[in-house]
Amino acid sequence: MLKVDHLAIVGGGFSGTLLAINLLRYGTMRVTLIEQRKDHLARGLAFGSAQADHVLNVRAGNMSAFPDQPGHFSDWLERHHVGTAQTFATRQIYGEYLLALLEDARRASSDRMEIILGRAIDMRVDTAECQLTLDSGAKVDADMVVLAPGNLPPHRLAAFRHLNAPAYINEPWSTHIADGLKDDDRILLLGSGLTAVDCAQSLDAAGFRGRIVALSRRGLLPHRHDMTDPFAPLRERPTGSCSTLVRSIRNRAAEVEWRNAVDEIRPFTQDIWRAAAPDMRMRFLRHLRPYWDIHRHRVAPQVADRIGRMMNEGRLEILAGKIVAARASDGGVNVTWRPRGSASEVRMQCARAINCTGPLSDLSAAADPLLGRLAASGLIRADAHAIGIDVDQQNRAITLAGMAQDRVRVVGPMTRGAHWEIVAVPDIRRQTWNLARTLSGAHWVEAEGL
Ligand SMILES: Cc1cc2nc3c(=O)[nH]c(=O)nc-3n(C[C@H](O)[C@H](O)[C@H](O)COP(=O)(O)OP(=O)(O)OC[C@H]3O[C@@H](n4cnc5c(N)ncnc54)[C@H](O)[C@@H]3O)c2cc1C
Repeated sequence: MLKVDHLAIVGGGFSGTLLAINLLRYGTMRVTLIEQRKDHLARGLAFGSAQADHVLNVRAGNMSAFPDQPGHFSDWLERHHVGTAQTFATRQIYGEYLLALLEDARRASSDRMEIILGRAIDMRVDTAECQLTLDSGAKVDADMVVLAPGNLPPHRLAAFRHLNAPAYINEPWSTHIADGLKDDDRILLLGSGLTAVDCAQSLDAAGFRGRIVALSRRGLLPHRHDMTDPFAPLRERPTGSCSTLVRSIRNRAAEVEWRNAVDEIRPFTQDIWRAAAPDMRMRFLRHLRPYWDIHRHRVAPQVADRIGRMMNEGRLEILAGKIVAARASDGGVNVTWRPRGSASEVRMQCARAINCTGPLSDLSAAADPLLGRLAASGLIRADAHAIGIDVDQQNRAITLAGMAQDRVRVVGPMTRGAHWEIVAVPDIRRQTWNLARTLSGAHWVEAEGL
């Protein structure tokens, strides 16, 4: 096994931070954490760009940073008198929790941890070591590099390519999305998933009282969380084709309520994905993913209530259809779209269009210099479904030639091609904990009962 005295992590969001903290907990190696945005340190995009009323979509009781201490976050909330295990805490509070964990780890192991604020732009790997180049020109040598870049930023939508802010906003978490709007304006949200829900709330919180239209292919909104009755969950992984699995979830929903039927699959989702043949994965991505997403990634009840209120008041409308074209018009944007199932086109004048299609995972469209260079040199490649970076089950990056590299690992949502269910905190915390323990040899100690 590769001896690692120094490990460098590119990306200091949730994934990179938790990997660093767990390496300090279990190992003896030195760790360098490299983050390009000071306001994202420990928090990443999800918890560093959140606005005051954006709440977590998971109850605090399941948001501990550590799989071996399930009550860690809810205890922290209680100690700070800001919530309990049942609370849907704000994402800003969760960011404070993560930053506090990183600060504690740095204080406890200052001789073993270095945090660099800077952007990694290139990497060389040979048989003896890896060398990262930062945008400052500095070099970082390490025995192993772990890429934790998070999702890639949303790409510019083709129909809006020639438009710029404020008519077209590509960054949905910008604090400026409501700047300059009037109450008789209409805003178009491109997408109707969790990002659109965030945006609608941000516009509402900023005092915008005009109309918001969220347009997506199917016009599906994420469902709400709710309390459910206790039940006996599945003990065995369900098997079969996509349609068999859908049928079995529907049957279970009739017995135990649909939220429980979806949640009880969670411990098996990664195994179901790994066991699935490529064409079954493709069918899932093409036909079932939007339905899976809205049932699996639900919003907190208070968020669902707010969105429902906005819809009842006629301030928010969800449309199903497809954008055909967009052109600058009258200081805003004139959009031509085709309603789902219709052959005719409709025009809509909007003051602003905001890209809420969510983060990107297609490596070939990545604007990030490091990932772009690594892909161009063949050190990493896209997975078979172009939903992330190709890795094996040990999270070793696979080269263009198909070789798994011991010295280059990847963690976080960009490993979804190998694991699928690796987007939310409960899955990433386990991935980073497992990797840290494997690299430190700590998993053997436990296995032998020492
Ligand atoms: C808006 C939003 C809300 C979410 N809400 C929830 C929730 O309520 N509950 C839940 O369980 N999950 C939630 N998630 C999902 C999950 O928590 C995130 O996907 C997770 O935080 C991912 O962390 P990450 O570190 O992999 O990525 P990121 O948070 O994106 O962090 C990656 C970091 O890497 C840095 N970086 C990238 N490239 C470089 C480079 N070349 N050099 C230096 N730094 C670099 C970036 O600046 C960034 O800070 C949410 C996700 C989003 C986007």
